[in-house]
Amino acid sequence: MNENFRSFAPGIPEGSNDSLTSAIASDGTPSPGQWYRVPARCGVAVRLKKGNTLELRNDSGSQVCDFWAFKEDNLHESLSMEHCRTHLGRNSIKEQDELVTNWRRPVLKVLCDTSPGVHDMLIASCDLNRYMGLGVDGYHDNCSDNLRMALAAIGETATHLPSPLNLWMNVGLGKNGAIEFLPPISKAGDVIEFEALDDLIVAMSACPQDITPVNGDDREIYDLNFRVR
Ligand SMILES: [Zn+2]
Repeated sequence: MNENFRSFAPGIPEGSNDSLTSAIASDGTPSPGQWYRVPARCGVAVRLKKGNTLELRNDSGSQVCDFWAFKEDNLHESLSMEHCRTHLGRNSIKEQDELVTNWRRPVLKVLCDTSPGVHDMLIASCDLNRYMGLGVDGYHDNCSDNLRMALAAIGETATHLPSPLNLWMNVGLGKNGAIEFLPPISKAGDVIEFEALDDLIVAMSACPQDITPVNGDDREIYDLNFRVR
């Protein structure tokens, strides 16, 4: 891969996959109650109106979902893990939590979480450089590009790459701040449900990380499913 041709622009993917053709509708508007798929290794974006709920289902139990939310009228304002950690006073989320943006405004409420509640709020979404650093030669599907493509597929352009809420991702913190990438402890069929507190664009990526064990020791990548009501 020729470094000179890499754009490093926030909205431009560095490769492509089925995220470009996996939009639920040309503008990302869901049909209420209909189940949609986030294909394995891909990303999908969906528009939520204030008061909508988004239910996300992990059929395999071991699939991590990188999750982002942007204000629909201004993508510069987005769900922000660094601001959530201060707002919550924790490095974790639980039911009834309100999650905030980089302007510290609540945009999502956690309604339900059937998993043990282990989600990651620290780790950046995977990207091409991450896989190159792990020894991958050539293009590898990655959550950063999945976000870019999922937004492009509904006619939007990513203005920046916020650090995601990594649903079901199990990152251990050891002594002296050591970080360990561990298999998820969620179980098949686990569900997490959010309420939109504003008009939003939410993007989800079925993380294609198959080098480290964050998607399970078998490193298999699975679909996710969601519906909006
Ligand atoms: Zn990823």
